[in-house]
Amino acid sequence: QQAATPATDNKTETSAEAKTDASTTTTTEGGKIGVAMPTKDLQRWNQDGTNMEAQLKEAGYEVDLQYASNDIPTQVSQIENMINSGCQMLVIASIDGDSLGTVLEQAKEKDIPVIAYDRLIMNSDAVTYYATFDNYMVGTKQGEYIRDQLDLDNAAGPFNIELVTGDPGDNNARFFFGGAMDVLQPYIDAGKLVVKSGQTDFETVATANWSTETAQSRMDAIISANYADGTKLDAVLCSNDSTALGVTNSLEANYTGEWPIITGQDCDKPNVKNMISGKQSMSIFKDTRTLASKVVEMVDAVMKGGEAPVNDTTTYDNGTGVIPSYLCEPVFADASNYKELLIDSGYYTEADLQ
Ligand code: BGC
Repeated sequence: QQAATPATDNKTETSAEAKTDASTTTTTEGGKIGVAMPTKDLQRWNQDGTNMEAQLKEAGYEVDLQYASNDIPTQVSQIENMINSGCQMLVIASIDGDSLGTVLEQAKEKDIPVIAYDRLIMNSDAVTYYATFDNYMVGTKQGEYIRDQLDLDNAAGPFNIELVTGDPGDNNARFFFGGAMDVLQPYIDAGKLVVKSGQTDFETVATANWSTETAQSRMDAIISANYADGTKLDAVLCSNDSTALGVTNSLEANYTGEWPIITGQDCDKPNVKNMISGKQSMSIFKDTRTLASKVVEMVDAVMKGGEAPVNDTTTYDNGTGVIPSYLCEPVFADASNYKELLIDSGYYTEADLQ
C-alpha cells in the first residue's frame, strides 16, 4: 500500500501492543467517544482520524482514537478496550465489515451507540447509524468518465479495458464496482468494450486489503498475457487510488503502448501528483473534513439524546435491516480542477503535491 504521512503502521512488529498505532486521548467535558480507524497505511484514514479527533474535541468531547494496522484482531481488541474504558459512543471504520459482530454485542449490552464510518459494519444489530460518501455514485462517476473519454456512444471501438476493484471484505467495494459496471456493462455486452483478460466478476477483480502491491502484480500478469505483443490497453477501471497506483507502477514497468485512461478515488497525494503528470486520469475527491463534521454532528445529536441527521433510509442493509445513513457527495477531480478542490480549499498545500 502506498506510503502514509505522517506515520506508517509497522507491519514487522507482532506483539499486540506494538501492533497498535500511536493513539491520542484527551480530556474534556462532553463524554468520551471511541474512534476506530483501519490503518495509517493509507493517507485518507490519517486525514479522517485527524479531522474526527480535532472536530470532536472542538465540540467538547474526549476522544480515544485508534488505528489497527489493517489487522482485524487488533481492531477488535481496540474496540473492546473502548467499550470497557467508558466510551459512550463508538465511531468505527471497519477493516472487515463482517468481523465486528461479537465485540459489538458488548456495546449493545451497554447501550453504546455505534456509527459505522465510511464502511458499513455487516450483520450486527448494534449499528445505529452509517455515515459515508455515496459509494454507488463514486462508481458511476468512474464508469461515466471512461464512457465519455472513450466516447463509447459514438466511436467505433472496440476498446480494451481491464477492471480492478477493492477488498471483498469491504462492503463499499461492491458499491463502487457495481456503480461503475452499471455504466460499463452494456458496452461490454455490445462488444464495444473488451476485457481481454476475461476477468470480470467481482471476486476475480477484487484486491485484498486494497493493496497497491497486489494490484500491481495482478496487472503485471494481465499485461504479460494480453498486452505484451503491443495490443493497446485503452482504460483501466480502478476503484481507488491505492489500486490505481499499483496499476500505474505495473504499466510503467511493463507496458509500451499508448497510456490508458486510469480512474481512482481519494485524491491521495501520490495519485494527485500522477494526475498532474498525466499518469492517472481522474480521481474522486472525498473531503474527509465534510464526512468528519457530519459524523460529529451525528455524535453530538445522539449524545444529547436526540436523533442523528440522515438522508438515506433505503440503501444500506447490513443483514439485520437498513441502517439509517448520511451520504456525503463525492466530487470528480482531475488535473483541470485539483487546484481549486484541493489547494484553494486548504486540503493540501502546494508543497504537498511537489
Ligand atoms: C474507502 C475508500 C478507500 C478504500 C481503501 C474504502 O472503504 O471508501 O475511500 O480508498 O476503502 O482504504
